[in-house]
Amino acid sequence: MVRIERVLAPNPGPFTGPGTNTWVVSVEGEAIVIDPGPRISSHERAITEMLTGQRTVAVVVTHGHEDHAPLANSLAAGLSVPTYGYGPAPDFDPDVRLVEGSEIKVGGKALQVLSTPGHSDDHLCFRLDRVLFSGDHIIGGSSVMVEDLGSYLDSLRKLAPLDLERIYPGHGEEIAEPKKTIDWYIAHRLRRETEILAAMAAGASSVAEIVEVVYAEVDSSLHPLAAVSVAAHLRKLEEAGPE
Ligand SMILES: [Zn+2]
Repeated sequence: MVRIERVLAPNPGPFTGPGTNTWVVSVEGEAIVIDPGPRISSHERAITEMLTGQRTVAVVVTHGHEDHAPLANSLAAGLSVPTYGYGPAPDFDPDVRLVEGSEIKVGGKALQVLSTPGHSDDHLCFRLDRVLFSGDHIIGGSSVMVEDLGSYLDSLRKLAPLDLERIYPGHGEEIAEPKKTIDWYIAHRLRRETEILAAMAAGASSVAEIVEVVYAEVDSSLHPLAAVSVAAHLRKLEEAGPE
């Protein structure tokens, strides 16, 4: 039997929503921690408490951003287990480097690694049976910041045919309709592309000017993230043209 429990990190904010979701996945008495989050001692205690009575086998990270990875190495050291991730990040150094197709064993099952760059170069998703742990590739309740749009769309299109029944994201609530949500994410990016082209046709000539027009309805505290996504759209338009 698989049990999935959330430990919500106390780091709410405009970029993190209610905070980072740390997922504890338990199978037959063994446990894996996915995305320990920021280095906050009360959060580390809450995770350790959740692990009580189980044999923890791994601490796993979806990507190196500061709201997902920094607690990984110290948590794993305290539990005497290895860390797994794509590669070194400013606040993270995995013991085991993961690539597409890697597997992490837990209680007789295998967590399968999917390479999903786009939100960040180093982004991974993890699949266990029909469940996906999506980090910041897909989150609950909104779109995400995109660093590389071409890769991001490829990573979404790679997930679309999977027969998933649930997504556990890095922020926000669980996603009960994976296919519908993935399709929305793809459509949303293509809609933004159309809006960006329209804004440029109407005279917007810099990232900041495009953000003002296209993200007019989005709270201005999120405009710095929107600027990263707009820049990614412009690079993709220049390199590969419109969809
Ligand atoms: Zn991130």
